[in-house]
Amino acid sequence: MKVYFVGAGPGDPELITVKGRRLLGEAGVVIYAGSLINPEILQYAAPGATCYDSASLTLEEVLTLMQQSITRGEMVVRLHTGDPSLYGAIQEQMDALARLGIPFEVVPGVSSFAAAAAAVEREFTLPGVSQTLILTRRGGRTPVPAQESLPELSRHRASLCLFLSSQSLATATAELAGGYGVETPAAVVYKASWPEKKVVRGTLGDIASLAQAAGIERTALLLVGDFLAGGYERSRLYDPAFSHGYRGAKDNHGQG
Ligand code: SAH
Repeated sequence: MKVYFVGAGPGDPELITVKGRRLLGEAGVVIYAGSLINPEILQYAAPGATCYDSASLTLEEVLTLMQQSITRGEMVVRLHTGDPSLYGAIQEQMDALARLGIPFEVVPGVSSFAAAAAAVEREFTLPGVSQTLILTRRGGRTPVPAQESLPELSRHRASLCLFLSSQSLATATAELAGGYGVETPAAVVYKASWPEKKVVRGTLGDIASLAQAAGIERTALLLVGDFLAGGYERSRLYDPAFSHGYRGAKDNHGQG
């Protein structure tokens, strides 16, 4: 018997992995973060499964639940929004399970940053624009190391996705404007992949007020960078003149 940390995906119940869905159907106990998980995903749980919302539980209570379930011989699925490796607080759960000798496995999921890129129909890594994606957040109750402050990160002018920070959008965009400049394209994506999804587009200079006017306060991501608009170089990978291991160049008759 194991505890499975399963990425539930960004909201659309069809964006859980095939493996995650199977495990959810086999678990006797499901622990989910009610504040962010789309409850519709619980339709994949077995009819007899017991489902707990972790919102009102401490780490110790979650661990006790896991331990008791495993002792009873029941498999546990711990559902995390998006992908569990990002802002999921799973390290402390995994380390505690390891200390207790309880086996566990992590099943990745579709992160909200990927769902946000899908919502704006843009690619983060455009040739000639940026080949780097920064996933970050502003310091709040959980501090951010000084060398990762937004003014510091903005100096790279890489594609950037900011989590957890919609209530401080005005401050965040002002801090990012230092390196990027106020004219840099920006977008706020609220509830990517949910039916009530909203996309607001603008620049670093106006996106905070546009998002506020749209009534967006939480469950949103800020995307920043020139990848959101404008030109780029076409991909070498699909260029007929460029050969690689799986395809010869067209101008040498496929012999390359
Ligand atoms: N592990 C999750 C992130 C958890 S932190 C992941 O991989 O996506 C929670 C934050 O993620 C929210 O405050 C919000 O900033 C963002 N988020 C989660 N789901 C979202 C969605 N569907 N659309 C936009 N932002 C989302």
